[in-house]
Amino acid sequence: MALLPTGDGLAPGNDRRAACGEDLDDLAARMSACRICRDNPLGGEARRLPHEPRPVFVLSDKALILICGQAPGTRVHASGRPFSDPSGERLRSWLGVTGREFYDPERFAIVPMGLCFPGLDSKGGDLPPRRECVSTWHERVMAAMPQLRLVVSIGQYAQRFHLQRRWRGTLTATVSAWQDIVAENSGRIMHVPLPHPSWRNNGWLKKNPWFEAELLPFLQKTVKDCLPEVPRPS
Ligand code: SF4
Repeated sequence: MALLPTGDGLAPGNDRRAACGEDLDDLAARMSACRICRDNPLGGEARRLPHEPRPVFVLSDKALILICGQAPGTRVHASGRPFSDPSGERLRSWLGVTGREFYDPERFAIVPMGLCFPGLDSKGGDLPPRRECVSTWHERVMAAMPQLRLVVSIGQYAQRFHLQRRWRGTLTATVSAWQDIVAENSGRIMHVPLPHPSWRNNGWLKKNPWFEAELLPFLQKTVKDCLPEVPRPS
């Protein structure tokens, strides 16, 4: 099994990102103030965000781990705190960390593919992350956090962006190939793909017992290796 990258060298896909970093505080302020999907949505008026934008994310110049999910749901939109819902509880158990560790910006950066709640479809499900976010923010986010060593990409949107040519075409094929994806890491960042920790995926988890038996122990050890040597919150 591949070891966590030490930061020597960059994978080809990371070269452009690493070359154009911007000040993290400036970037965070711009992201927080973003209104593109409300004021100037791609595709015009029909795609206007139906509510006020509320970008939810955590940038960090110290965290070695980035959690990249899909987009806030209704509960996270209301709280303004990422993963403040039952899915977040399950995610933290998958990672093997406490809530205090998870919300410590010295330990975790958290940037979903869509920073704002995208709204609901006609069946009451969450719409996909806004594509304006990917084209506006994500390359800049990655460039501004060159210290990252582990990206946990949750769901197909995050995996398509972060894995690029290593995306296997479906979420199941991609997560199933996690050992190859980890072994393929040749740059500064290790990528670990996960399904969404929603209870809706209980059936998927049951059908894929290797996920809890093999992937999660590896993930928890890798996360532990990335936690900084600062006193753990009591
Ligand atoms: S979803 Fe992204 S691009 Fe759209 S308003 Fe929110 S931060 Fe801006």
